[in-house]
Amino acid sequence: MIIIMKNKVKKASVQAVVLEVEALGYAAHVINGIENTVIGAVGTKDKNSLRSLVSMDGVASVMPIQQPYKLASLSTKKESSIIKIGNTEIGGNSFVLMGGPCSVETREQTYSCADSVKKVGGQFLRGGAYKPRTSPYSFQGLEEEGLKILLEAKKKTGLHIVTELLNPQNTELVNSYADVIQIGARNMQNFALLKEVGKLKKPILLKRGLSSTLEELMMSAEYIMSEGNYNVILCERGIRTFEKAYRNVLDLNAVPALKRMTHLPVVVDPSHGTGRKDLIETMSKAAIAAGADGIMIEIHPNPEKAFSDGPQSLKFHEFEHLVNEIRPYVELSKKTWSVV
Ligand code: PEP
Ligand code: MN
Repeated sequence: MIIIMKNKVKKASVQAVVLEVEALGYAAHVINGIENTVIGAVGTKDKNSLRSLVSMDGVASVMPIQQPYKLASLSTKKESSIIKIGNTEIGGNSFVLMGGPCSVETREQTYSCADSVKKVGGQFLRGGAYKPRTSPYSFQGLEEEGLKILLEAKKKTGLHIVTELLNPQNTELVNSYADVIQIGARNMQNFALLKEVGKLKKPILLKRGLSSTLEELMMSAEYIMSEGNYNVILCERGIRTFEKAYRNVLDLNAVPALKRMTHLPVVVDPSHGTGRKDLIETMSKAAIAAGADGIMIEIHPNPEKAFSDGPQSLKFHEFEHLVNEIRPYVELSKKTWSVV
């Protein structure tokens, strides 16, 4: 159920409703929109007991939410959520560019990627220090050493850091280095991990699972939000189909479809979504045209020698070319591209 408060409601009225919701055995989530404050009452009890709240001071209406995802639903909050990271905003009318290597390999490699991202006006340096590899014999990441390198690159450039958390045990450690914590496609339904990051305040980049539906993606966002962390950024990164011509099928239907389901920002990763360097630029343009709030691109100083995802990693001059090519699309999308 959502309890929609009247315009310009007093804080004390909101607080009184929160207490009543909790007394009825639900968790209360206060969501402050531009026009209205909404209180999401979530729990497993019979919802009818909440209907009586309509007579409380400051309450405009009490409505059931039809979707199984509640806090993430567009019915709960009508306007786009804007997630702030330093002076950068994700969502609303902003466009963000995230770039960097698949894996943090060396200091020099990461610094050169960071310089390249900074040069083209990106706001985020991405790079994995903990890597979810299909084979246990493949490079697994530099772990904390990798996080330290990312932090040094941040100090040099001012870029925000996006890095993956693989395992609930490393939550505190990764949280102390990252500006945005990535939950990778393979962990989209690792519910223990989702609950763990739900307890943080840190923005979470939640990547769609390889074979997950949009509703499942939304339910995973709901896991994070139901713990109190509303700073969730969704990421379309391609899904598995029968098609073998590329690594994944970048499902760009997902962008406008998600925008009709949720107020959360949607970022697209055409690097994993195609797995092919020659398709990334076109699919980046298509993602922006579809309404993406940002794109994430893998780059490497020497892709042939990359420890992971070399075939889809752009060289710096290719990345620069891509960025020049997409600028008019960002302008057409009426989004603002601010630098850090
Ligand atoms: C990555 O971003 O490098 C990555 C492993 O992504 P995904 O989880 O989407 O495969
Ligand atoms: Mn990768």
